[in-house]
This record gives sequence, structure tokens and C-alpha cells, in this order.
Amino acid sequence: MEQKMMDAIIKHVDGEGLALARVPVPEVGPGEVLIRIHKTAICGTDVHIYDWTDWSKAHVHVGQTIGHEYVGEIAELGAGVTGFTVGQRVSGEGHITCGHCRNCHTGNIQWCKDTVGVGVDRNGAFAEYLCIPAKNVIAIDPELDEDVVSFFDAFGNATHTALMWDLIGEDVLITGAGPIGIIAAGICKFAGARRVVITDLNDYRLGLARKMGVDAAVNTGREDLREIMHELKIVEGFDIGLEMSGSGAAFKQMVSTMRNGGKISLLGLGPKPIELDMNDIITRGLTLQGIYGRKMDNWHQMSYMVQGGLDLTPVITHRFHYTDFQKGFDAMRSGNSGKVVLDWTKK
Ligand SMILES: [Zn+2]
Ligand SMILES: [Zn+2]
Repeated sequence: MEQKMMDAIIKHVDGEGLALARVPVPEVGPGEVLIRIHKTAICGTDVHIYDWTDWSKAHVHVGQTIGHEYVGEIAELGAGVTGFTVGQRVSGEGHITCGHCRNCHTGNIQWCKDTVGVGVDRNGAFAEYLCIPAKNVIAIDPELDEDVVSFFDAFGNATHTALMWDLIGEDVLITGAGPIGIIAAGICKFAGARRVVITDLNDYRLGLARKMGVDAAVNTGREDLREIMHELKIVEGFDIGLEMSGSGAAFKQMVSTMRNGGKISLLGLGPKPIELDMNDIITRGLTLQGIYGRKMDNWHQMSYMVQGGLDLTPVITHRFHYTDFQKGFDAMRSGNSGKVVLDWTKK
């Protein structure tokens, strides 16, 4: 039988860049689901793979299809799969977990010790078709805008980070105005925070954050955060901190502007270790929570927040056909972009 082929964006060289290639449509095994991809979004992780950083060399193999933010419809159900139908609108949890470690048993799949990343450790979604285990398939209400659903994976990171703490009436500092930081700002306002302040060094991204309704978008390269806190009547410091930048300078500023007893969730992975005075954390009673991936329940919260009025369209800055993926990566690598959505519905 002749192998069916499809278009896919692959890591084609042991070096910088990505290429569009013809690769086999994945075979659907028992318990698996084949998804026809409609829209995908480019993640910072994909840019790392494009740039071929040391981290990506350790995970991605040359020849592999990348991408993990997507929406599509079910094209085929493997043997034994129940609860889904062909043609159904779906996305998918990007971390394929072992199912039997202590964290998987308690529903904390985000902390599985043997997690495998779609589009990182195995073939991904920047293709006409993606095959994943049925337990990772997430049903999506067809009424939701596919451009927004295409980046639910990233929205999930933001949801997990922001909703780690009670937000009603709290003052929140977000360090890092990348797409996830900007989405988190929208979530915090939606969830009832009093003031939401976001910091970055990139004016384009701070402008996007303003469109998401932040109370202040601060360029810490030239503005004084404490002055802005004063203007916003944030007297004792921020109650909640969401660290999205991976930058030591940003994290230090966050620690120094938190209220005693404040709570910080950390999502931003940095290029190098950050120096930290533990005495600041101890004597001021701060709580630090590392965030990885998203909880399965976040998928429900995301759909319901959007249906409840959370508008994430301001974070979408570019839309391209998948054959123009290079333009999408150029936009992402320039730093002057929010989410970049690629369309896979037309040839
Ligand atoms: Zn991602
Ligand atoms: Zn596990």
C-alpha cells in the first residue's frame, strides 16, 4: 500500500532554521487519535528550536515535525477509542504523561516524572495531521474562535500561573510582556484583581498589554516602577507576582516590590541561574511556586473564561498561511509580535 504523505514544518538541519517538507501521515495505533490540523500558533519554544539552542538539541531530533499549539478536527479514531467522533473539533494537551507515577495518580499530570512533549520530544502539530493518545485529546466547543483556540496551550500556561492564587481585590505584578504574560494580565483582570501592572523592556509588547487592559505597562529600562506603584496607590507592595521573563533583574525587582507575605508563581525559564538572597524570601514570608505546563482542569477554565467574555484577540498580531511560516518565525524572532497564527485549512 502506498504511504500517504502530508506537508509538515520540520527541523531539517543540525543548525538554525526550519523547512517545509513532505512526510508520511502518521499511522493511528490503538488508543490514538488522528487530528486534521486547522490552525497552529508559534510558541517561544518553537523559536528556541528554530534557533537550535542547547536545550532544543537535547530534545528535538533532526527530521522531526515541531509545534504544539493547535486546533483541528478528528480525522480518524484508533482501535478502542470511545467518547470522540470523527469531525469533532479538538485541541490537545501537549504533555504526554506516564499515567502511573505518584503525580499522575493524584491528577497532577503537570508534574509527571516521565513527561514527553508533543512537537519537542516527538512529532508535533505543524503538519496537516497529528497523532496523539486519546487521553490527551481535548474537546473544543465549535463556537469558539479557532484563531484563539490555536494558542490554548500557551493560554493554559498563563491560566495555571495566574490562577495559582486568589486574585480578587489583589494587586498583581507580571514581569515579562511576552504573549503568556499579556494573556495572564487579561486573566487577572477577568478574575477580579484590583491593579495589574506588567513590566518589560519592549515597547511593542507593552503596547499589546495595554490593549489587554492592564492598569500600567512599565518599561523598566526608563521608568520607575515604585513611582507607578505610588500613582496606583499600591502602598505595601504587590500581593501576587507572576514571573514570566526568566530574567534575574526582573525577578529581583519583583521580590523587592512584593508585600510581606506575598505569593509568586514562576513560569519564565531563564538562560542562566539567578542569584537570590534567601533572607529576603524567609524574613518577608514570601511564597514561591514553580509552574510547569498546565493542569487538565485549566482546559475547561480556558473555554469558560472565553465564553464568559475574556477577549484574547488583542494578543494575535500576525496570521499567515503555513507555507509562509518563515514570515511567522521572522515576526516572532523580531520581538515585535504577540501570537502568530498559521492556517492549515487551505492548500
Ligand atoms: Zn508553547
Ligand atoms: Zn506520570
